[in-house]
Amino acid sequence: MKTTLLIAAAVAALATAPAFAAPLNVAAEKKAIDAQLDRDYPELDALYKDIHTHPELGFQEVETAKKLAAQMRALGFTVTEGVGKTGVVAVLKNGDGPKVLIRTELDALPMQEKTGLPYASQATAMWNGEKVFVAHSCGHDIHMAAWIGTARQLVAQKAKWKGTLVFVAQPSEETVSGARAMLADGFLEKFGKPDYGFALHVGPGAAGEVYYKPGVLTSTSDALDVTFNGRGAHGSMPSASIDPVMMAARFTVDVQSVISREKDPAAFGVVTVGSIQAGSAGNIIPEKAKVRGTIRTQDAGVRDKILAGIDRTVKAVVEMAGAPPADYTITPGGKAVVNDQALTDRTAAVFKTAFGPRAVLTPQPGSASEDYSEFIIAGVPSVYFSIGGFDPAVMAKAKAEGKPLPVNHSPYFAPVPEPSIRTGVEAMTLAVLNVMGK
Ligand SMILES: [Zn+2]
Ligand SMILES: [Zn+2]
Repeated sequence: MKTTLLIAAAVAALATAPAFAAPLNVAAEKKAIDAQLDRDYPELDALYKDIHTHPELGFQEVETAKKLAAQMRALGFTVTEGVGKTGVVAVLKNGDGPKVLIRTELDALPMQEKTGLPYASQATAMWNGEKVFVAHSCGHDIHMAAWIGTARQLVAQKAKWKGTLVFVAQPSEETVSGARAMLADGFLEKFGKPDYGFALHVGPGAAGEVYYKPGVLTSTSDALDVTFNGRGAHGSMPSASIDPVMMAARFTVDVQSVISREKDPAAFGVVTVGSIQAGSAGNIIPEKAKVRGTIRTQDAGVRDKILAGIDRTVKAVVEMAGAPPADYTITPGGKAVVNDQALTDRTAAVFKTAFGPRAVLTPQPGSASEDYSEFIIAGVPSVYFSIGGFDPAVMAKAKAEGKPLPVNHSPYFAPVPEPSIRTGVEAMTLAVLNVMGK
């Protein structure tokens, strides 16, 4: 029975996914990519710095999208703008073969850059009704430069591959809603379902290194919002009140026992309360306290257990205080990115040949979340890999001095452009040629 099912599944897979291309001559290919990069790099560097200096927030990436669309049109792609509000899809058909998705994000973060770099951002924008600074502190500008660099490579080497390239520039990754917006806008219906997909992220690690991992890579994120409803009173008359500040404090502490006492200690799970808002003065017991947090898991069973524990903790805190029920929502965010085993194996083999010991297997999934998972859930077998962004000499110095280096989302996060972008272009171009090569 099992065997029959397996054979049936294998036949079904063969019917839908085209067979992989012939093995790639990695050494020759990497040489060709590097020669092309020598010609392209000055323009990629200029694009990177321009985007870095002019960052835009999620679903506001109008100018960024225009810049990428113009470059892709100049390369001969058929470009559709405004997919999922500000997303861009650039298609290049080159004979019969697999359809391959290559994704970058477009958005920056609502925060002030403090790197002191000559091309640092001073930009501001409106965000939830407030004027905020805007900065590319997650490195999506590196991804965009590598995305254009990869497109240039594949156009220059058109004779070596066949199929259809679908370059996707996705809005609002940081709010884990841009990929869903593109899919809801008919991405699959308009452009067809890709046979394979690739995305990359720059992060802590030496520039020049490439990190890959089959299976679960990132976590599922859910947002927690609780409003504890109490009864306001004078700070000197607590017995006339139902104190919501006490409830918020008790909940924040007690909810951690869901993690330490209920969850399997070997399983990944995080509950973080990142925001508590209540009151206006020291002598007024307020009516309400708002608690906001994030829940990260990698397994559906663990997620169910944590959500049930949070639910009980909210109710118990309310019960102990004799308070009216709390208003409470869990908003699902990004789902875990799960890399395709066969495609990761095939891609990793090429990375190992091209980068030697600088191609590194990531042993554990990460705690961050990422909405590229929406494309995978929509049926695109994918490899989401990472590249290092730090100067190895700076890393060695920091290690010797025992100082941590600023990671993604730090106002000081500053990946070194040239080796990061070059490695991104090399790895992505090789990964794509590996499934499309003639
Ligand atoms: Zn980020
Ligand atoms: Zn990011």
